[in-house]
Amino acid sequence: MGPQQQPIKPISPKPWKSAGLILTYWCNCRCAFCYLNCGPKQRTSFMTVDDVLTYWKGLEAMAGPAAKVHLTGGEAFANWPALLAILQAAHAQGLYAHEVETNAFWCTEPHQVRQRCLQLNQLNLGRLVVSCDLYHQRYIPFERVKMLVQIAKDVLGDHRVRVRWRDFFANPVDISDLSPQQSRQAYRRAWHSHHDRLTGRAAEEIAPLLEMHDLDTYAGQNCRKSLLASRHVHIDPSGNVFPGACSGLVVGNARQNTLPQLWDLLLSGEDQILQTLVQQGPHGLVSIGAQLGYQPDQDGFASKCHLCTKVRRFLWDTGKFAPTIGPQQCYYEN
Ligand code: SF4
Ligand code: SF4
Repeated sequence: MGPQQQPIKPISPKPWKSAGLILTYWCNCRCAFCYLNCGPKQRTSFMTVDDVLTYWKGLEAMAGPAAKVHLTGGEAFANWPALLAILQAAHAQGLYAHEVETNAFWCTEPHQVRQRCLQLNQLNLGRLVVSCDLYHQRYIPFERVKMLVQIAKDVLGDHRVRVRWRDFFANPVDISDLSPQQSRQAYRRAWHSHHDRLTGRAAEEIAPLLEMHDLDTYAGQNCRKSLLASRHVHIDPSGNVFPGACSGLVVGNARQNTLPQLWDLLLSGEDQILQTLVQQGPHGLVSIGAQLGYQPDQDGFASKCHLCTKVRRFLWDTGKFAPTIGPQQCYYEN
């Protein structure tokens, strides 16, 4: 049975009130399910203090005190002095990060881990999010995650440490013990447990492990809710603003326009790609791609985001839809 058709119902636009700041695309890991395509080959700058504060204030202009900022990556702890400088500058202005996310790759010395957790506590961090799953633990020894979680809970308190995912943390699996076939089955099971979005690298490495559906299954599945009502944006180190978790789909650049201006731009419906997705979903993008020679994979697609990523990659290659379809990091590793 294919994915169910979404009932068409009116969805009111809901302005952004939380932002995930992608401090860098660099990451020591190269997780198969990474929706951003991050990895060791990604060469990008780290988001500057000034940019962070600008975006933060832009979000506050939209959401007031309800504004929430989540610092992530890539790996946010790839440059600890830069991350610390961001948190200190924000703190000096009375701004406190809702969450900082890490994969714990840096957690080798208990003393250093405690020291950093104490600094995060002094800077009023809301919550530390620690990645822990089958995909990450292919690259990071589980002991490092365990060390971070134990020390962070001790310093910050249980309620300020979120492990993602807790079920894996409670029952870790060593993927190096698995055969290639067992690994594929384990990835499949992990995806079915959490249904992570099939964009970025996940479209290449996870989607082919899943059940595929033909193109027409996705006809009529629009993205109005994801694009206009998720209440969330991501902003990358160059200022590219992605609606919700739609990596590689750019509303505009937050270095050039404020977030309220970009929200108005999104609502205006002026951009052909964004408007097509709002009204028709990725099935509508296929028609745009077909005029340029796009041919859908005969094997089908595992989800509408998988279809969207495949068509957008084709459109990126044509170079005709920049900057809405971009940046390069979301489509290719350096
Ligand atoms: S999922 Fe997280 S840890 Fe894995 S490659 Fe992407 S940013 Fe890095
Ligand atoms: S199909 Fe594309 S636009 Fe729609 S939610 Fe998925 S990634 Fe976003």
